[in-house]
This record gives sequence, structure tokens and C-alpha cells, in this order.
Amino acid sequence: MAYDFDLYVIGAGSGGVRAARFAAGFGAKVAVAESRYLGGTCVNVGCVPKKLLVYGAHFAEDFEQASGFGWSLGEAKFDWATLIANKDREINRLNGIYRNLLVNSGVTLHESHAKVLGPHEVEVDGQRFTAEHILIATGGWPQIPDIPGREHAISSNEAFFLKALPKRVLVVGGGYIAVEFAGIFHGLGAQTTLVYRGDLFLRGFDGAVRQHLQEELVKRGMDLQFNADIERIEKQADGSLNVTLKDGRQLAADCVFYATGRRPMLDNLGLENTGVTLDKRGFIEVDDLYQSAEPSILAIGDVIGRVQLTPVALAEGMAVARRLFKPEQYRPVDYKMIPTAVFSLPTIGTVGLSEEQAREEGHTVQVFESRFRPMKLTLTDCQERTLMKLVVDAKTDKVLGCHMVGPDAGEIIQGLAIAVRAGATKRDFDETIGVHPTAAEEFVTMRTPVER
Ligand code: FAD
Ligand code: NDP
Repeated sequence: MAYDFDLYVIGAGSGGVRAARFAAGFGAKVAVAESRYLGGTCVNVGCVPKKLLVYGAHFAEDFEQASGFGWSLGEAKFDWATLIANKDREINRLNGIYRNLLVNSGVTLHESHAKVLGPHEVEVDGQRFTAEHILIATGGWPQIPDIPGREHAISSNEAFFLKALPKRVLVVGGGYIAVEFAGIFHGLGAQTTLVYRGDLFLRGFDGAVRQHLQEELVKRGMDLQFNADIERIEKQADGSLNVTLKDGRQLAADCVFYATGRRPMLDNLGLENTGVTLDKRGFIEVDDLYQSAEPSILAIGDVIGRVQLTPVALAEGMAVARRLFKPEQYRPVDYKMIPTAVFSLPTIGTVGLSEEQAREEGHTVQVFESRFRPMKLTLTDCQERTLMKLVVDAKTDKVLGCHMVGPDAGEIIQGLAIAVRAGATKRDFDETIGVHPTAAEEFVTMRTPVER
């Protein structure tokens, strides 16, 4: 049967754009539908605008520290509207770049919602298209628990477009988004409280990293409320919010920001017209080749709920394009040793196993740790400390994990990730000559294991 397209991609986010562009580059006839914004979550309401706001928040510290280096400044003032307008302009520019990338690679772009009608059929704007393969790359959406007053809360989707910086913000959650936005709001001058239901935020990260970040945030004056959860939110006559916690305590806020995870975006997608199945958590179930239970339908990125990171969605998109249209170049995605950063202030960078995971997996673990005051701060009053940690297999000498909390942690970990993925041993680290004077050289000069 002749189809309209070889590949129909639903969603022009990180994964969808990568798969569509490369498939078209390999000679396939490709269409992509996008209902909301080109570039998807990462470009519009995720990584990119978030990082711009983190940069914005960081200036508060830079101004404070400048006097130690002889600079005197007038009173520093921050204008939220300027930051948001400039951010919007940049995102607009990126949307245009994504449009050009798709169109110039020969992809047919449908800027509308797409619904799957059957294993090989999609409907967009009342028009029907057939395709040999359909790729679902529709991403995710914030998930806010159903508590009384939920309508008064916002998620990351709205946070990027607030008209003004709230005076008092209550951030709920203990994952990436909660920690990053708490840092943004706090850095920009809002009185910020982070409410997390467990003992310590960032479950799954190395224990020393979680503890260190907690200490640093408390030093900076952030209010951390652990073992706490919201029961209800009530709007007051003056527009402020009264938040009642499950333990009965009441907190006043101008904005309640929920960052309690993301669900797959399957709204009106028409999966009921297909044999596609969902896993226990509601994400699309796929095999190692991203094929769903309906053989002509594939899925990648956040909608399959494996690792919700842009570079992972990109790698999955690339794998699908290659497998379908350039099989000789196909390589499976390697989910081990995925480096990641949490752009909190200070930043976390991490790759490989945490100490806890390494022990659980049965390794005999040796830990190397360094805590120090960054050189840049020695001329300032700032008491921030950096943490660097290596988790090593004592038997094989292989470095199993590298963890850092401190300035440029994401930048530093990216380089180390190559070494760790390539199987570097602690001896390789030790024999590598440092770059002096940097913080990163500490990773190659840690000699004495921590006694446990
Ligand atoms: P998305 O990028 O979400 O793209 C899906 C696209 O599909 C969307 O554009 C959507 O509009 C479209 N769509 C949905 N349904 C339909 C339909 N029926 N028809 C047509 N179009 C449809 N990751 C990092 O690696 N680093 C970070 O710093 C980082 N920061 C983040 C910060 C925030 C606040 C958030 C929310 C996420 C962040 N992420 C980060 C995660 C990252 O954004 C996602 O992992 C990534 O965008 C997933 O890509 P995707 O292609 O699966 O989906
Ligand atoms: P996460 O899954 O990272 O964290 C969700 C947090 O919300 C957890 O602390 C969880 O607690 C808590 N939580 C979940 N349900 C409830 C509930 N009903 N009530 C109270 N608390 C709850 O999700 P995020 O929303 O922060 O981010 C989504 C994903 O996006 C991330 O996992 C990450 O993959 C990606 N991302 C990546 C970034 C980066 O690379 N820098 C930045 C931002 C997002 P508990 O731990 O107890 O389950």
C-alpha cells in the first residue's frame, strides 16, 4: 500500500524534531504535527527558559560578592517584566530556528493537534493522512494532586509567564523542578519556602549531595519544610493564599507552585483507536526498539517515561530515525551513565551510581570526598562550600559515580561523564594532571578514601 508519508511524527519537541529531521535527511518522506509550540517543552517551558531564569537569579550573588573584588555598585534592582520579555524574545527566535530546521530538511509541518485514527492513519485539522510508521513524541504535562484549592496553584507552565515576581512563594515537591524553581524565586528576591513530603529532597541522588544542598540552601536563607504536605489552599479576600498543611500548620503565600512530577501527554490522542498499551504508571509501553504493542506505532521521549531528559529524547529520536531509515548506522541508546545536572543554586552535577546505589548493587565501595570553599569566594563574605565525591569499586578500581555540588557542576560533570562511561579507573583519575587553579582539578587530586 502507498502511504502519504513514510513517517508521521506527533509532537515537535526534543525527540520528535530530532527523529523527523534525521529521517528526512535519510531520504524518508516525513510529516510532523505540533499543536502548541515548536521545540516542545525544553525550548518553551523547560530547560532553556529555566536556565535563563537561573542565570538571572545568580546575579544576586554576583552583585553581593563584587565588593570583595573592589567593585562598588549602586543599589541593585531587579525587574521581572524585563527578564520575562527578554526571555520571550529569545524563545521566539528559537521557535523560528526550529521551524527552519524542519522545513529546510524537507519535513512537512502541520501546526495543529494530531489524533491517531488507526495503526497507519492520523487526523490533523479535519484532514486525514496515512503513514507507514507513526511516532508519538507528545511529551509530558505537569501533574498537580487533586487537593481542595488546586485551582489556585500554578505549575512550571505558568511560572514562566507570571506578570510579576510573587513576594512569597511556596514551592511544593522535592524533584528537579521544585529545587530549581525554589532557587530561581529565592535568588530573584521572593521569600521562598520549599515544602517536600519526605525526609530529604532529591530522592535517588547521592545522599551526601542531597545533604550538602540542603545545608547550602539553609545558609542562603531558604525555608525548607520537609515531612510536610499541603492539605488545602484557600484564597483570601486580598488575593493572597492561605495554605493549610496536613499537620495543621498554616502558611501565607502569594503563589503556590506545584512541581510534583509530570504525566504523559495523551490528551485526545486517539490511542483507543489502536492496540497501543500503557504501563502501570500510564506511560506508553514500548520495547527496546521503541515499538508499541501496535507494531506500526512507535513512541519516544517523556511520553514513555524512561528518563525524562532532553538529551535522552534526542538520542531516542535519533535511534528511531536510524533504525527505520539508515539501519546500518543504528546503535541502541545506552541508558547507563547518563550525566545530569540540577540547576539549583548551587548546581548539582552527577554521573553514574550514587554511593547508596553502588552498595545496593553489591560493589565494595570506596568513597573519596572533598569539601572546600571555592577560591572565588575567598575575597568575599560568602561561606558557600563545594562538594565533590567519587564512588569507586574497591575491587576493580573503576569509578562508578562522580557527584558535585558547586559552581559549574553541570559543565564539569559533562567532561567526567566521558571518562566514567569509557570505564576510567581511580588510577586514571589520579594520573591525570589537573588544570590549575580550578575547582575541577579536585576530581584528580583526591587521594585518601573516606573512612566509613
Ligand atoms: P516535549 O519536548 O514535551 O515535546 C512534545 C511536543 O508534543 C510538545 O511541543 C507538545 O505541544 C506536542 N504535542 C503533544 N500532543 C500533541 C498532539 N496530539 N498533536 C500535536 N502535538 C502534540 N531536561 C533536561 O535535559 N535539562 C533540563 O535542564 C531540563 N529542564 C526542564 C525544566 C522544566 C521546567 C521541565 C518541565 C522539563 C525540563 N527538562 C529538562 C525535561 C525536558 O524538557 C524533557 O525531557 C523533553 O522536553 C522531552 O522531550 P519530548 O520530545 O519527549 O517532549
Ligand atoms: P520529579 O519526578 O523529579 O519530582 C517530583 C517530586 O514531587 C518528588 O519529590 C516527589 O516526591 C514529589 N511528589 C510526587 N507526587 C506528589 C504528591 N502527590 N504530593 C506531594 N509531592 C509529590 O518531577 P519534576 O516535576 O520535578 O520534574 C519532572 C522531570 O523533568 C524530572 O524528573 C526530570 O527528569 C525532568 N527535569 C529535568 C531537569 C534537569 O535536567 N535539570 C529540570 C527539570 C525537570 P517523592 O520523591 O517522595 O516521590
